[in-house]
Amino acid sequence: MVYHEENRLSPPRHPLIDRYGRTHTSLRISVTDRCNIRCTYCMPELDPIFFSRSELLTFEEITRISTLLVNHCGVEDIRITGGEPLVRKDLHVLIERLSAIRNLKDLSLTTNGLLLKNHAHNLMKAGLKRINISLDTLSEEVFKNLTRRTGLKNTLEGIESAIETGFKNIKLNALAIRGITEKEICDLIEYASSKGLLIRFIEYMPLDSDKNWKRGDVLNGDEILKTLAHHFGVVRKIPRPDASQPAEDFLVGDHKVGIIRSVTKPFCDQCNRMRITADGAIRNCLFSNKEVSFKTPMREGATDHELLELFATCISTKEKSHGISNEAFQPPDRPMYAIGG
Ligand code: SAM
Ligand code: SF4
Repeated sequence: MVYHEENRLSPPRHPLIDRYGRTHTSLRISVTDRCNIRCTYCMPELDPIFFSRSELLTFEEITRISTLLVNHCGVEDIRITGGEPLVRKDLHVLIERLSAIRNLKDLSLTTNGLLLKNHAHNLMKAGLKRINISLDTLSEEVFKNLTRRTGLKNTLEGIESAIETGFKNIKLNALAIRGITEKEICDLIEYASSKGLLIRFIEYMPLDSDKNWKRGDVLNGDEILKTLAHHFGVVRKIPRPDASQPAEDFLVGDHKVGIIRSVTKPFCDQCNRMRITADGAIRNCLFSNKEVSFKTPMREGATDHELLELFATCISTKEKSHGISNEAFQPPDRPMYAIGG
C-alpha cells in the first residue's frame, strides 16, 4: 500500500486497508506503560521494566500523528489507554489537543479507575467523550489477589465520580478468569445495573507478563451464558449495531450484559483496530510479533508523507487472524501493559 503525497488534502484519501479488505478506522494510543497496580494477568509482580521518560511519545508527537491519521486516513475514533493512562501527568492536556482534531468522532479512555475521582471533571472539560473502567471484582480480598495492591474502594469511587460528572455510556470491563469470575458474575451485573452501566466480560487472553496463561484459565463465553441462563432465566441476544464491535450484547432479565469472546470466538474478520505503543511503535494487532517504530523517524525529521507510509506498511502486513487457537501460537513479546489494551 502506498501513500501518495499529492492526494493529501481531504479525508479520508488514504484509508488504511489491509490485504483482507479491513479498513482501519479505530486507533488505540498507549500513553504510558506504568501502572499503579500489578494485575496478575498483565504485569509481573516484581521489577517490571518501564520505558524511560525520553522513550515516551510526547503529547506533541501523539497529537501530530493522530491528526494525520484522522485527517488523511479516516481514523474516526481514538481510545487512550496504557498501562494506566491516569498516571501520565497532565493527561487532560493531551485530551484537549486530541478533542480539537476536526473529524474525530469519538475520544475515549480505558482506566482502572483508581485515580479517576481526581480527574473525571478535568477530563470531561477537556473533551473526553467516553470512559471504560475495569472492574473484575467487588471483593477487596479478590481485588488484592488479582492486583497485588489494595484500592477497590478507589475504583468504586472513580466509577461514582464518572457518573456524577455526567459521562454517558460508561462501560465496565471484567476479565473472565476461571476460578475467580464465576462467583462474581451475577453480583457484578447487579452492581452495573444498579448504576445504569453496561458490564462486559472479556475472555482472558495470553498477554500476561509472566506467560502463565493456559487455555483452561479462560472462563469462556458459553460458560458465562450458561450461568446467566441459570440465574436470570431467558437470555436474549441483542443485534449488533456495528459489526466491528467486539462485544456481543445480551438481555438477561432487566440487565444488558456484554461478552467479548476474544479467545473462543475471535472477531478478527471485522477488526478495524490499530495501536500505538507508549514508546512510539505501530502495532496492527494485539498479538502481532512484528511492529513498526515511527518515533525515531519522527524525531529525525520524517515528513508527514513518510510517517503515513510507515502506517500503511504496518497495516499491509496484518495477519488474517490472531491464531490463539493454533497449536503453533506464540504470545507476543510485549505483555499487555507495554502494548496498551
Ligand atoms: N490500566 C487500564 C485498565 O486496566 O483499564 C488500561 C490498560 S489495560 C491493559 C486495558 C484492558 O486490558 C483492561 O480492561 C484489562 O482488564 C485488559 N487486560 C489486561 N490484561 C489482559 C489479558 N491478559 N487478557 C484480556 N484482557 C486483559
Ligand atoms: Fe495496570 Fe491495567 Fe495492566 Fe491492571 S490491566 S496492571 S490496571 S495496565
